[in-house]
Amino acid sequence: MKVFKFGGASVKDAEAIRNVARIIKMYENDQLLVVISAMGKTTNALENILTQFINDNAAYAESIAALKKFHFNILEELYQGEDPSAYHQLEDLFLQFEWFFELGEKDNYDFLYDQIVGFGEIFSTKIIATYLQSVGIKAKWLDARNFIITNDNYREAAIDFKLTESMVQRKIPDLLSDEIIITQGFIGKNRQGHATTLGREGSDFTAAIFAWALNAQEVDIWKDVPGILNADPKKFSDTILFEELSYRDAVEMSYYGASVLHPKTMQPLQNRNIPLHVRSFVKPEESGTMIFDRAINKQHIPVIIAKENQCLVHVASNNFDFIAERNLSRIFQAIAQNRVKINLMRNSAMRFTFCTDFDERKLNALKTELEPEFVLETEPGLRLLTIRNATDEYIDKLTDNQELILEQKIEHVAQFVLQ
Ligand code: ASP
Ligand code: MG
Repeated sequence: MKVFKFGGASVKDAEAIRNVARIIKMYENDQLLVVISAMGKTTNALENILTQFINDNAAYAESIAALKKFHFNILEELYQGEDPSAYHQLEDLFLQFEWFFELGEKDNYDFLYDQIVGFGEIFSTKIIATYLQSVGIKAKWLDARNFIITNDNYREAAIDFKLTESMVQRKIPDLLSDEIIITQGFIGKNRQGHATTLGREGSDFTAAIFAWALNAQEVDIWKDVPGILNADPKKFSDTILFEELSYRDAVEMSYYGASVLHPKTMQPLQNRNIPLHVRSFVKPEESGTMIFDRAINKQHIPVIIAKENQCLVHVASNNFDFIAERNLSRIFQAIAQNRVKINLMRNSAMRFTFCTDFDERKLNALKTELEPEFVLETEPGLRLLTIRNATDEYIDKLTDNQELILEQKIEHVAQFVLQ
């Protein structure tokens, strides 16, 4: 059996959904579990609704109305008024969704986030599963929260692999023998029965978890790019497509911020030796990139990864103390506790500096925690450039005429923080 994953861009409107249906139709006779994300930019819209709601901004109600309209318009285009059951189902889901706002609970942001933001995936998969049925595909909608079991680390829940495997094995292989399963990425449930999420862009990871638990023969991630390229084609020209990559190379690329794959995706696949196929939903006949164990490692191809919206954080002692091991361990503990992610770091006599994705909420929390003992300064609006396997000449070309704030080189990887 195979696992497919379709991301937000592949289901952003009615035409895109028809295309997904055409692709699934080509594999109709295979055993298939399909993981789907929220439509287009829905997850961002949901995050925005939640922020408005928490800040007592009455505009949240209009934002909900807009989100509802977006989904109903897609239904309208797909069905042209036929099949009232699809409309009723969506109406019901929106009632469940709005109920969380009626409760008026605003205290626990991370918890509330997971109850609300995961609805994007529920809306999209309901619409798509019903549509597939309407065009004659035997599709069954399943709620991923009943299978992907996690701890209660809201917004970045960790998978309970053992329990997940037994839940999946108990039910899914039987169903797969005569239906295509349509389910959600990104969401799970903890032992208390509350919804959780796996972190932004986590649907790739969900596909890998299902594949692992089902011992799938392959995972196919369908994207708007031809496969894995050595740089983001939206930012760089003359990109090169990798025909194959090892798990290790793919992990490293996603770790440094290549947004083509979620960094956690590879581990479950590598553990069970399941190949990952990254391919185009625009040109499904093309071969894309295969990621597997013994792929040929093309060390000579440089890989460029640019991460925007970066922030440098400088931490200094407030009493002229060195930033040595004791202080560092205190700083790291606070960083881990506040779930701040370090993309690059450097220490000097009087301060410790690190580069992180700019997240005001997390950085403020970190500041509050460390500020009695340390002074924190932030430098937002930066860019982190990572280059693997590059010659000096190549690096010069990419960094020429730019203000370098920090640079670091180790083995075959060079990193630069730029203005
Ligand atoms: N919809 C979620 C997000 O945009 C999960 C995903 O797309 O992978 O982060
Ligand atoms: Mg998405």
